[in-house]
Amino acid sequence: MYIIIEFDFIKGDEMICERCSKEAHQLEPCEYCNRKVCVTCEKSSKKTSRIRRIVICKDCWSDMKKRKVFKAE
Ligand SMILES: [Zn+2]
Ligand SMILES: [Zn+2]
Repeated sequence: MYIIIEFDFIKGDEMICERCSKEAHQLEPCEYCNRKVCVTCEKSSKKTSRIRRIVICKDCWSDMKKRKVFKAE
């Protein structure tokens, strides 16, 4: 399920969401602002291919331009 993993942000248990600043077990980069966000801050995600999964955070979701791009992916 979580294919996009970057090793630089795996530092033991201390992963902090870049959007809400809370500790999280799982962070994924938002496709549109490149911040690593927790599941709570993810608005939506989808698979565009077998290996590519994109995530949009709640901030980017409220941006109509970015939302359109996400829906068009
Ligand atoms: Zn968060
Ligand atoms: Zn974002």
